[in-house]
Amino acid sequence: MKNIKLSALQENKRTVVRVGDVKVGEGFCVIAGPCSVENERQTIETAKAVKEAGAQMLRGGAFKPRTSPYAFQGLGLQGLKILKKAKEETGLPIVTEVIDTRDVPWVTEYADVLQIGARNMQNFSLLKEVGKTQKPVLLKRGMNSTIEEWLNCAEYILDGGNYDVILCERGIRTFETYTRNTLDISAVPALRELTHLPIIVDPSHASGRVSLIPALCFAAVASGADGIMVEVHINPSEAVCDQEQALGPEQFSHMMKKIRKLHKFMVDLA
Ligand code: PEP
Ligand code: MN
Repeated sequence: MKNIKLSALQENKRTVVRVGDVKVGEGFCVIAGPCSVENERQTIETAKAVKEAGAQMLRGGAFKPRTSPYAFQGLGLQGLKILKKAKEETGLPIVTEVIDTRDVPWVTEYADVLQIGARNMQNFSLLKEVGKTQKPVLLKRGMNSTIEEWLNCAEYILDGGNYDVILCERGIRTFETYTRNTLDISAVPALRELTHLPIIVDPSHASGRVSLIPALCFAAVASGADGIMVEVHINPSEAVCDQEQALGPEQFSHMMKKIRKLHKFMVDLA
């Protein structure tokens, strides 16, 4: 693969990205939380519920890259402050998206992991900017991007001096319309042989349907992924953003029990 230097797998040495006490690349890491931070109660109650079910990090967008300019764009700084409070109450590290180079310095103050969304995967100025920070970066795959293009984007961050990159497969665009995207599960074992970086799966944006999410999570475990990032809302029927793919706390907790069992089975199998 062309120009894949710093992210290429060498001598089977794999990167473990440390986020507080959490190690991404060792065991199976679960990141969960709402699509967007809507208010304090929604975020903190969701954070408590996902923690109770065994999630290790909290996700939540304060800046939302929406298809329509008229859709909810996120609470911005207020959202980041709510995430900080949720972290204080639960101890869960925060994964949150940064969409603008100008925001990187101050989003970095609140985030434990900087998320680069699918729509920004090839925003090279943004990649260079997060490459200058010391914060782990969760780099989502662009919906129309090849694995090679994706790894080249990781390369930008590594080349900036930041080696803590987590790759996130979130589904790609195909001719299929039943699902929001098509989860490219083969990307997981493919990346295993190409790169030392940890790889997680986002079944929520890949499918866009609550009913399909558990099966995709199990597929992620079986494919050898290092974790998942899944959307959970304390009250899915009230979710402002991505309602059709929001798991409720009980669905999430039920699924988590099976994920942990399946992961143990896979470890024993190896
Ligand atoms: C998200 O994780 O909230 C998100 C916007 O996802 P993606 O960038 O994969 O569409
Ligand atoms: Mn979402």
